[in-house]
Amino acid sequence: MYAPLQLRRMPRRKPEPIPEILPQYTSFKLEIRPSKIHRWGVYAAEAIPARRRIMEYTGERISRVETRRRSEEQGRMIYLFTLDPYWTLDGAVGGSGAQYINHCCDPNIRTVIQKGHILYYSRRPIRKGEELTVDYHFAKDIDQVPCKCGAATCRGTINLK
Ligand SMILES: [Zn+2]
Repeated sequence: MYAPLQLRRMPRRKPEPIPEILPQYTSFKLEIRPSKIHRWGVYAAEAIPARRRIMEYTGERISRVETRRRSEEQGRMIYLFTLDPYWTLDGAVGGSGAQYINHCCDPNIRTVIQKGHILYYSRRPIRKGEELTVDYHFAKDIDQVPCKCGAATCRGTINLK
């Protein structure tokens, strides 16, 4: 199997486009609003039952070399989701809106990789108005990113321990 999923979202200097959700990739009504966790967040605009597919994480499919180049690029937000040992999806290009979902150490969403697609499923029932969160599983060996998710089980960093 693959190494732990790794989603990197680092702040960069340039302003980014107005965040939006592409409805063709979602199964429930969602909206983007400012978040207490980090910048923008994705919120349930209707109740979502447990174990339902919520949305797909889309983006440009890029190689390892290109992933390295983009992660070192200055001046823009980066939304890179490792799909498998070779391919990464860059949510900054053609992202469904899932790239705005924030990290939480006790998330209400889990990730399923299926036939080259990254799918987000509910881990439990999600109330209308609740922010959607996923565990980014940052690798242990990259820069430590402090976590302020507020969960009782917060591990203190977005990186895995
Ligand atoms: Zn946390």
